[in-house]
Amino acid sequence: SGDDKKNIISEFKLDPEAELRFEIETKNEKVLLTLKSGSAEVFGTELVKGKTYEFTSGAKIAVFTWQGCIVELKGKTDVSYVAKETPMVLYMNCHAGLDQMRLNAEKNNTKGPMCMVVGPNDVGKSTVCRILLNYAVRMGRRPLYVDVDLGQGQISVPGTIGSILVERPALIDEGFPQEAPLVYHDGHKSPGDNPALYKKLLTQLGSTIKDRLEINKKTKMSGCIINTCGWIKGVGYKFILHTMEAFNVNVILVLDQERLYNELVRDSPRFVKVVFLPKSGGVVERSKGARGEYRDQRIREYFYGTPKNALYPHSFEVKFSDVKIFKIGAPALPDSCLPLGMKARDHLTKLVLITPNPGLLHHLLSVSFSEKDDDDMILSHCAGFICVTNVDVERQQLTVLSPQPKPLPNNLLLLSELQFMDSH
Ligand code: ATP
Repeated sequence: SGDDKKNIISEFKLDPEAELRFEIETKNEKVLLTLKSGSAEVFGTELVKGKTYEFTSGAKIAVFTWQGCIVELKGKTDVSYVAKETPMVLYMNCHAGLDQMRLNAEKNNTKGPMCMVVGPNDVGKSTVCRILLNYAVRMGRRPLYVDVDLGQGQISVPGTIGSILVERPALIDEGFPQEAPLVYHDGHKSPGDNPALYKKLLTQLGSTIKDRLEINKKTKMSGCIINTCGWIKGVGYKFILHTMEAFNVNVILVLDQERLYNELVRDSPRFVKVVFLPKSGGVVERSKGARGEYRDQRIREYFYGTPKNALYPHSFEVKFSDVKIFKIGAPALPDSCLPLGMKARDHLTKLVLITPNPGLLHHLLSVSFSEKDDDDMILSHCAGFICVTNVDVERQQLTVLSPQPKPLPNNLLLLSELQFMDSH
């Protein structure tokens, strides 16, 4: 019966440099992982011997060991096997190279490596970033993690780009803690939906990061790990080049695609090291549906936290007259109607004030830090996000879900295309 399966205990003995891979697909399933002896890590975070880690449906995990170990799984996994071939030695060599650059940076009081990870969808870019950040922080470094993947990003909610300072290894089951993230609002699932806006935000995040690196010596020598999105052809490739420029990238790790590797060797300045890395055979492909679910889950976690670390959001009314809601991007005008000096693409990053209406229902709104509602507002970072859960036109008010209690920290709000159905 199902109950028996839940109590299945399997023990795995791993040789040095092998990994146990497992996946949980079934809904509401729980699997417990315990390290019995030896040493092991999950994407660069060390397991504590004897401690039990809990994973739920959707988890796709690799437990890797350098020295060999015995681990135990309790519960029903949909896939579980031991792999002896992994690219971990190559990833570790990359880390060693980056750390050598950090040592040089420390000696000369210059900037540490600005390392960008690129490749198509489902090659393990986010995982490689996590491994490199974990190895860095385990050696006492304090790197910045930058994520410019709008749709599948790991910082704040989808539809944004941003950065966090990494001061501790990622939690095995929850990723990196996100205190005071630096977040910019784009409001789309893909950078192609408003390329002009996305490029402006990359430039802005890049220059803010540059300033922040100068403030803290330890972070300056530790440098940045930059995660990108899996769109690598045509306009997507242009965004990669723009990211390289915006962040003064000097190391590019190209996962899995030799063509992309060759293009980047051809198109990047000489001081940039471009390195090809194979993907891990363990990386699991995600369907379009799974990507949509990931976005929903990220938003739900933003408001409600995780099972282990629950958050309690607030719900309150906001009068239409107390806020100004903008959308980014005005309709295009024919060239003949453009004011002198205005370029045909400028309208894409213009702010348009909108009258609150029922169409706002379920949409996310970012709360801007900006003091003024001019066009520079899009370049200021976000205080946070709220979700519209009701629009009452008669009483001229919105009901919103907010991580913070009333009042909102600012009355300037930006509309996101992303929606969230609050089912709590
Ligand atoms: P995207 O296309 O969204 O940018 P990505 O290239 O960043 O994806 P990841 O998110 O790193 O890919 O990996 C995809 C999935 O594969 C994740 O759920 C991750 O946990 C899993 N995964 C990565 N490496 C392994 C491994 N060695 N064994 C098992 N699962 C893995």
